[in-house]
Amino acid sequence: MFATRFAPSPTGRLHKGHAFSALTAWTAAREAGGRFILRVEDIDPTRCKAEFEAAIFEDLTWLGLDWETPVRRQSEHLADYAAVIDALTARGLLYRCFRTRKDILDAIGDAPHGPGEAVRPGPHAPDEEARLLAEGRPYAWRLSLERARQALGETAWNALSFVEEGGGHEGEIGVVRARPETAGDVVLARKDAGTAYHLAVTHDDALQGVTHVVRGLDLFEATHIQRLIQALMGWPAPTYRHHRLLAGPDGRRYAKRDQSITLAELRAGGLTPEALRAELGF
Ligand code: GLU
Repeated sequence: MFATRFAPSPTGRLHKGHAFSALTAWTAAREAGGRFILRVEDIDPTRCKAEFEAAIFEDLTWLGLDWETPVRRQSEHLADYAAVIDALTARGLLYRCFRTRKDILDAIGDAPHGPGEAVRPGPHAPDEEARLLAEGRPYAWRLSLERARQALGETAWNALSFVEEGGGHEGEIGVVRARPETAGDVVLARKDAGTAYHLAVTHDDALQGVTHVVRGLDLFEATHIQRLIQALMGWPAPTYRHHRLLAGPDGRRYAKRDQSITLAELRAGGLTPEALRAELGF
């Protein structure tokens, strides 16, 4: 059965871009006679707040959306993600990385290929790793693309792909070859949170039976590495529909960090859900 989701992180108030994304996913579920899931992606304890989560429910209800309950809150399921980390570690696919962001940026700056290249710092030498562990230094778990490639085998690695129905990079549609190397050796468990976005999102899409991932084009590039994680874990590959990103009156796309006008502010200013839906094309 068709199932899609809207998976916001409660790090701020929702703006029109979120409304567009949520309406796109909800309408797709309605048209397919399928399921619509709302998932709270709150694994970052420093940025997520309960008040923002409450506001998400309020804003989406105001917009006229409904969703399955109970809503999955990722922070309540950290043991699930830890189990995946353990499984991948046992298969030798992850390595400990004690480097700070600055160490890595400095190393990239020194390397001949220069900045902008995907980060693949590689494992520490065994004696160095043992020393850092003994010193109690914090570390992240990174996925080794080299070992992942060996684990999948050349044939499966080369055949790794996903179906894009929305329109990816430069309008790419249909079967898209997954290029996990563009992401580098991504962090799958962070020092502070025990999991990272790519792992939690793919785990939950599989667990919740999501058949269609409907989300903004800003996450298209993330699909390459997410597809690899699914393949390594034997999780099903959803179909993807990346939608266009909404631009504000200034021509710039809506984003939390730019302090875009929020749905709450628009509501307080007298905007009705009907008017907003019509404006957004629903
Ligand atoms: N939680 C992610 C965000 O707020 C979205 C995850 C996804 O749709 O894959 O950007």
